[in-house]
Amino acid sequence: MIQTRRPPEVDRAAASRRAVAARRERAALKKDVAMRVLSPQELLRRAGEHPDTPAGAMRVTEYLTALPAIGEGKRDRILAELGIAPVKRLGGLGPRQRVALSRWLDERFPEPSPRAGRSRLVVLAGPTAVGKGTVAAHVKEHHPEILLSVSATTRVPRPGEVNGEHYFFVDDAEFDRLIASGELLEWATVHNAHRYGTPKAPIEKALAEGRTVLLEIDLQGARQVRAAAPDAALVFLLPPSWDELVHRLVGRGTEGEEERARRLRTAKTELASQGEFDYLVVNDDVARAAAEVAALAR
Ligand code: 5GP
Repeated sequence: MIQTRRPPEVDRAAASRRAVAARRERAALKKDVAMRVLSPQELLRRAGEHPDTPAGAMRVTEYLTALPAIGEGKRDRILAELGIAPVKRLGGLGPRQRVALSRWLDERFPEPSPRAGRSRLVVLAGPTAVGKGTVAAHVKEHHPEILLSVSATTRVPRPGEVNGEHYFFVDDAEFDRLIASGELLEWATVHNAHRYGTPKAPIEKALAEGRTVLLEIDLQGARQVRAAAPDAALVFLLPPSWDELVHRLVGRGTEGEEERARRLRTAKTELASQGEFDYLVVNDDVARAAAEVAALAR
C-alpha cells in the first residue's frame, strides 16, 4: 500500500493560523488604503521591497478595488490598459508593470510634494485623536528654538493647564474683541463647542527674528492659514493605521453606537483632506514623528 505523507497535524494547524493572520493583515492594509491612512504608492513600494510579506502577496485585483472609487469594471479596464494579468500579485509585478502602475497612481492619487520657497511658519493638523497635541508638546520640549504658538480659547482650563502656557483662557466677550480687532491669524469653533484662535503678534515677532513657528490647530484653522499665508508649510499627521485611529477615537467604547459612527465618519472626512497639505507625517512613534516635524521646520 502506498502511503501518502501528510504533514503532521501541528504543522497544518500552524500553517492555517499563518494563513489566517496573513489574510487579516492584507485586509487591514486594504482598509488603510481605502481610508487614506496609507497611500497606494507606499503600499506598492512595500510590496516591491518585501514580496514575501502580506503586502507582496496581495493580488493586483484586490489592491485596485481597495482604492477609493474603483469598482470591478474599472479595475479590469485599468489592468488591461497597464498590461497586467489579474492573477498577478503586487510583489510579483515586473519592473515595467510596476512603473506603469505607479505612473497611473501618481496621476490619479497625487502624493504631496514639498514646495519651494515656503516660510518658517509650520502648521500641524490632522484627524481628531491622531495625537497632534502630544507631537507638538514633544517638539516644544526638545526644540526650544521653535516657537509653539499659544492659542486663545473660550473653553475652561483642564486640571494642570496654565494660562498663557497651554492656552490663553478668555471669555466670549474677549474672544469677540480679538476677532474684531484683527488680532487673530485664524480662528474656528472646534467640535461645535468652543472657539480657538491663533494670536498674530507673537508669530509675526518670532518670524521677524528668524525663528520657526509651529501651530497645532484644527483643519478649518489650517485652511485659513493657507489662505492668509500661502507660503506656510502645512503638515498632516497620519495615524499608523486605520485600526489604530479607530482605537484612539472610540477607545473602550463607552459611547453609544450613534456617537461611535459619527466619530468614524468625521475621521474619514478629515483624512480625505490630506491632499491639501504639503507634507504627511505618520505618528507611529511620538519622538520620531516630532523629530520629522522639527526637521521640516528647520
Ligand atoms: P483641546 O480643547 O483638546 O485642547 O483642543 C481641541 C482642538 O482644538 C484640537 O484639535 C486643536 O488642534 C484645536 N485647536 C487648538 N488651538 C487652536 C487654534 O488656535 N485654532 C484652531 N483652529 N484650532 C485650534
